[in-house]
Amino acid sequence: MTGSVLIISGPSGAGKSSLTKEILNHIPNAVFSISTTTRKPRKGEADGVNYCFTDKESFQKDIDEGAFLEWANVHGNFYGTSIKQITEFLKNGKLVILDIDVQGYMIAKKKLGNFITSVFVTTKDKKSLKNRLVLRQSDTQDTIDTRLENAKKEMIYINEYEYLIINDDFKTACNAMLSIAASSIYKSTLTDKEEFISSWFKN
Ligand code: 5GP
Repeated sequence: MTGSVLIISGPSGAGKSSLTKEILNHIPNAVFSISTTTRKPRKGEADGVNYCFTDKESFQKDIDEGAFLEWANVHGNFYGTSIKQITEFLKNGKLVILDIDVQGYMIAKKKLGNFITSVFVTTKDKKSLKNRLVLRQSDTQDTIDTRLENAKKEMIYINEYEYLIINDDFKTACNAMLSIAASSIYKSTLTDKEEFISSWFKN
């Protein structure tokens, strides 16, 4: 494995997708891990691009077959990260971006440890989050309420993450995210140091 993993979490509406797009636009080696979900596609979302959309039965089958690195029930829908896809990316030396919730992150952290770099993205306060969810007009009032309720549970995980971005001004948040993503590739825990040191002395 020669690649690296960048995990981005935070409340829905905090700007994770927009920041991820910026990484993909600016860091040539970066790729997005397309999750599988039982959520219905939103307007403008395409299967195999934003998510692999599936039904509960197929999702359960994937769980039973051990296809996921992690999976979680978020806002009443299931979401999971495919082991196959991520392994393929890592073999090819990619910087793999995972936009996953706090539950999924805790599982991935146990499995991948220091191999990953983690960032929590949020708004400056609850009111700003509510405004963004309302403005993006992609969810019903019920869904917005669920997401706001969930945000309270997610915020208490901030300390579990290495980096925190308070996305108030997008340009500032974007610069922060790009520097974190760029440096995550050089994390020393990604290198097998014993092997490197022994080959360093041999050559
Ligand atoms: P949305 O429905 O707004 O696209 O995503 C809802 C939440 O699910 C977001 O917080 C997002 O980070 C999370 N999510 C997306 N994909 C995955 C995944 O594969 N695993 C987990 N655990 N959470 C995910």
